[in-house]
Amino acid sequence: MAAFNFEDFLRPDIYDMEEYSPIEPFEVLSARLGLPVERIIKLDGNENPYGPSPRTLAALADYRGYHIYPDPQHTLLREAIQDYIGVDKAHIMFGSGSDELIDLIMRLFLGPGEAIINCPPTFGMYSFDAAICGAQVMQVPRRTDFSLDVEAIRRQVLDHPTIRPSDHLTNKLLFINSPNNPDGSLTSREDLRQLLELPLVVVVDEAYAEFSGVSVVDMVPEHPNLIVLKTFSKWAGLAGLRIGYGIFPLGIIRHLWKIKQPYNVNVAAQVAALASLEDFEYLQANVQRIVAERERLYVELGKFDFLHPYPSRSNFVLCHVLGWDAHGLKLSLEREGILVRYFDKPGLKDCIRISVGKPEQTEVLLQALRRLGSRITRKAAKGTK
Ligand code: PMP
Repeated sequence: MAAFNFEDFLRPDIYDMEEYSPIEPFEVLSARLGLPVERIIKLDGNENPYGPSPRTLAALADYRGYHIYPDPQHTLLREAIQDYIGVDKAHIMFGSGSDELIDLIMRLFLGPGEAIINCPPTFGMYSFDAAICGAQVMQVPRRTDFSLDVEAIRRQVLDHPTIRPSDHLTNKLLFINSPNNPDGSLTSREDLRQLLELPLVVVVDEAYAEFSGVSVVDMVPEHPNLIVLKTFSKWAGLAGLRIGYGIFPLGIIRHLWKIKQPYNVNVAAQVAALASLEDFEYLQANVQRIVAERERLYVELGKFDFLHPYPSRSNFVLCHVLGWDAHGLKLSLEREGILVRYFDKPGLKDCIRISVGKPEQTEVLLQALRRLGSRITRKAAKGTK
């Protein structure tokens, strides 16, 4: 056979794509830090520190149907969830995490050269998935208080109309994360209403909505261009099982069913999600604990003169690090077995994001910050940012 370079067969846009940097698995990290897994305080992934409910774990252990393929239509789950969110099951589809649904939505709408509107700083998956579709990402940055720049989004859409066959750049989808990862701010209903007037499908990602008590799910049935995404990863503590869902307009969901992999949500995830809904009150009490701890964490972080925390409606607190190297702070905490997320992107220079843990984990974090703070000679004091 002739010597082919099979890399030449690849899609050129994928060939040129940057590689994704995966997170370090817990066990690998524990070996690198020389700390046992139990000593590590993981506050970098916005996971639920309380985990699944005991009834969920029991349901998983007791289930006897793991040798049978899962229900492609998630019938029982969609029936159960419609009571929980108050929207008819005809609007609802489940995915292997809401991540899968973000990807599916893009595949449904985007061809090469078409565009999504992204509002950074925000969750990175929107840009990542758009690139896989060969789509473009039009960045309309948030303001310095992290609110959406509705006027700039409007200009972006109206300057590049959606339906113009000769135009390669068509804005079709707008992704809004509310509460927004990484700062925790909400998008107002008023802003959303204005955006829904535009010729655009608006996707509101509510992965963290249970920590804010605010949702726009009720608006979906009246708006043919509003999609809301939700997940069991955060409030129900099922991040490792991968189960999320979306609430879609009827005109969109029927096409989404055509392209969904039949067995996209595994049996264990479906069992666990059903059991979680049956143990809603237990899980809701944990959500309340996390919300109370978030408020305490925000106040305590504000007492350090090298940190400026931002108010959050989610399960994490973003902090601007003042007069000190934020990456150095992340690494110093890591050496003590405390993991936080460091950012160095536009709009997030010198920032760390701390997920809300259990009160005892907050104590370890605060003690470490006090120790580190007294050791480091700070270049500037608070107020000089
Ligand atoms: N949206 C946002 C804003 C997130 O932060 C995350 C998780 N990091 C997801 C979606 C993905 O959630 P899931 O686990 O349901 O895929």
